[in-house]
Amino acid sequence: MDPFESLDLFDIDALLTEEERMIRDTVRQFASDKILPCIREHTREGTLPRHLIPEMGELGLLGANLEGYDCAGLGPVAYGLIMQEIERADSGLRSFVSVQGALAMYPIHDFGSEEQKQKWLPPMARGEKIGCFGLTEPDFGSNPAGLRTRARKDGDSWILNGNKMWITNGTTADIAVIWARTEEGVFRGFLVEKGTPGLEAIEIRGKYSLRASDTAELVLEDCRIPAENVLPKTEGLKYALKCLNQARYGIAWGAIGAAQACFDEALRYSKERIQFGKPIASFQLVQQKLAHIATEITKSQLLCLRLGRLKEKGDIRHYQISVAKRNNVFHALEAARTCRDILGGNGILDEYHSMRHMMNLETVFTYEGTHDIHALIIAEHLTGIAAYE
Ligand SMILES: Cc1cc2nc3c(=O)[nH]c(=O)nc-3n(C[C@H](O)[C@H](O)[C@H](O)COP(=O)(O)OP(=O)(O)OC[C@H]3O[C@@H](n4cnc5c(N)ncnc54)[C@H](O)[C@@H]3O)c2cc1C
Repeated sequence: MDPFESLDLFDIDALLTEEERMIRDTVRQFASDKILPCIREHTREGTLPRHLIPEMGELGLLGANLEGYDCAGLGPVAYGLIMQEIERADSGLRSFVSVQGALAMYPIHDFGSEEQKQKWLPPMARGEKIGCFGLTEPDFGSNPAGLRTRARKDGDSWILNGNKMWITNGTTADIAVIWARTEEGVFRGFLVEKGTPGLEAIEIRGKYSLRASDTAELVLEDCRIPAENVLPKTEGLKYALKCLNQARYGIAWGAIGAAQACFDEALRYSKERIQFGKPIASFQLVQQKLAHIATEITKSQLLCLRLGRLKEKGDIRHYQISVAKRNNVFHALEAARTCRDILGGNGILDEYHSMRHMMNLETVFTYEGTHDIHALIIAEHLTGIAAYE
């Protein structure tokens, strides 16, 4: 299959710049040549394809929208297209790229000291150093304001105590951005280096979803870090939420890629699979499914493109990101399930991709604000009433 062949009912291609198209095609080729051939094995084994990280660094995919410090400094649409193309192959790999760029490099870039930026960003852009983001705790997911991790100042150090749950890149990371409450009750971000006594990363096993991603619990027990490891500009939970907005923006784009991959697979299969003496693509019920998925993918593409152009102008609102994340992931998950159905019994085999995407998208539906939490964010904007407080 031509890796550049993909659904584009509304000629959205024409709305992209030449540079954006070139970046998209390069990443699509990388995903097709490098991720797809190994993704089944890594999904079976439950392992992150770590060998791909240096090449993702070389291609400029890590922290791609950040300026300076060896980052590619790309615009929001080009960045979104990178997420789309990586997730066309696998949501786990896209999660790796999102966490590295939007949740670990971004807070260092925007809220860190010059020294922290110089030390961490160039090797992170090259993929030589890996980051993770620890906000969620075992008892605080949708409601991070309740988090229990504490940071106590002790001379030239901070001492951190607490547990972080579901941390992507957790066992791999050289640097963890840990969100904790100080004795004064202020939420702050702290940089905790791998190997610091008192930090333990425990792999979470038994996942049906995002199997090609490293997910861990982090335990911080009297974990002493130098005083200068606090991110100086983080003073309040809103700084953690700013990181989430960066990541959610990329997720909205990524979901399009997963949906397109499922659609392409189901379309191809439906034209080849013969039942009742005809290709199943000739049956009206199958056609209705394909038409529905194609329409929803087109709507998702238009939402993201508009969102990206707003972000370019610096005019993006958090509730707009919620609309796109909520809508696009919902419809990608629905598309993956329907495509698995179109593949019949074969659809449950891992030689096909739709069911892996379906299982992955169950996580994407839940993380970075669940589907319902995004409904509450959108409705708060509409009504002026926050239902989750
Ligand atoms: C594979 C994976 C990777 C992840 N990676 C990271 C990471 O790198 N860093 C990180 O910090 N976190 C990460 N997360 C955590 C993720 O963000 C949380 O799982 C998510 O925020 C939901 O929290 P929870 O699992 O505690 O569910 P809960 O908050 O307990 O929600 C359970 C259900 O209750 C609903 N609910 C909760 N509150 C309300 C309300 N007020 N109104 C209506 N419904 C409500 C939810 O919508 C959901 O359906 C990851 C999660 C997974 C599964």
